[in-house]
Amino acid sequence: MNEDLLALTHTADEYDRYMHAVVPPVFMNSLHVYEKFEDYCNVDVFKDDEYVYGRSSNPTVHILERKIAALEHGSRAVVFSSGMAACTAAIMATCKAGSHLVCMKDIYQPIKRFLKTVGIPRLNFSVTYVSGNDIQEIEDAIQDNTSLMILESPATFVFRVVDLKAITDIAKKHNVKTYIDNTCLTPIFQKPLDLGVDIVMHTMSKYIGGHSDIIGGVLVSKDEELMRRIMSEMREWFGGILGPMEGWLAIRGLRTLEARMKRHQEIAMAVADFLEKSDKVKQVNYTGLASHPQADIIKRQQMGHSSLMSIVLDAPAEKAVEFIDHLHLFGKGCSWGGFESLALCPLYKESQEELAVLGADRGLIRLYCGLEGEENLLEDIEAALKLL
Ligand SMILES: *Cc1c(COP(=O)(O)O)cnc(C)c1O
Repeated sequence: MNEDLLALTHTADEYDRYMHAVVPPVFMNSLHVYEKFEDYCNVDVFKDDEYVYGRSSNPTVHILERKIAALEHGSRAVVFSSGMAACTAAIMATCKAGSHLVCMKDIYQPIKRFLKTVGIPRLNFSVTYVSGNDIQEIEDAIQDNTSLMILESPATFVFRVVDLKAITDIAKKHNVKTYIDNTCLTPIFQKPLDLGVDIVMHTMSKYIGGHSDIIGGVLVSKDEELMRRIMSEMREWFGGILGPMEGWLAIRGLRTLEARMKRHQEIAMAVADFLEKSDKVKQVNYTGLASHPQADIIKRQQMGHSSLMSIVLDAPAEKAVEFIDHLHLFGKGCSWGGFESLALCPLYKESQEELAVLGADRGLIRLYCGLEGEENLLEDIEAALKLL
């Protein structure tokens, strides 16, 4: 049985509760009322059917949480108003003033900025950045006060993949919690909780929403106690719950997640194959290619590939900007995960210092393949390469 497909299509829909509507409603209410004061007082908002106030929980939002928990093999999911709200909640729930964190150097950049501008100066955090590929380097980085390890695989920029099982074994040995950003592969293609990771984060603004129309984030874990704390201390006190309408749209996005991911993968594979054969392209970073430096780990821990890749042209960095401007089907914009293809030179304006840390090229081009189809995308890319 394919449990993923059942979670996407049926889990928590409960027709008989919603007048047999095939799609559960949007609960656009800020509070829930009770006949008796004692009934109101006895509500435990962590439980499936108990609600008090929209900042702590909402029935539509909770349908979404139940689907994502089932998909990620977690016991509980908690959704937030953005991926960053989810990420910072995970950091705040696992660290305290004076904590040390071990962090992969090529994670999503705003997290590094959060650590630099808030975590270190205001909360007295210290951070050791590691590549993620050297297990000894990771173990050596752990200190007595290390609280959290921040991972992303495949990671932003060159789609570096790290061995999650090996890393979580080390972390457990030293009693350090692990966190991973699983946005890129979605739970369809990677299940980090099964590999020992403690907390999984997704921004739902990308593939889960899938239509470039919402901002949202989610944390999932097998650790009930931790999730209860995240829900009450982090979500309720900071107040960053997802809105019910966004929750409903995310549920709609989930219905087609598996179908979209398989199609995205097919299109991206065709694009990556084409680019790798082109003599105008020096480097293609895509987890679906046999040439990926961590191909052996990929085979073990991924069940598929996203439609994100990066390339470096066999030309100076300025030519990269020229090339993406010649692409007509790839919009120039941040984000990804929707129906539309996108291209960007994410490091073009980065400092020399940060480029050296990342070991990446200023002319790196990130391509996101949407759902326009391989025929159209290849035609567009071929024409832009010819103009170089
Ligand atoms: C976009 C993104 C985020 C942040 O998500 P928001 O919903 O924009 O806050 C985090 N991680 C990755 C990998 C992303 O692409």
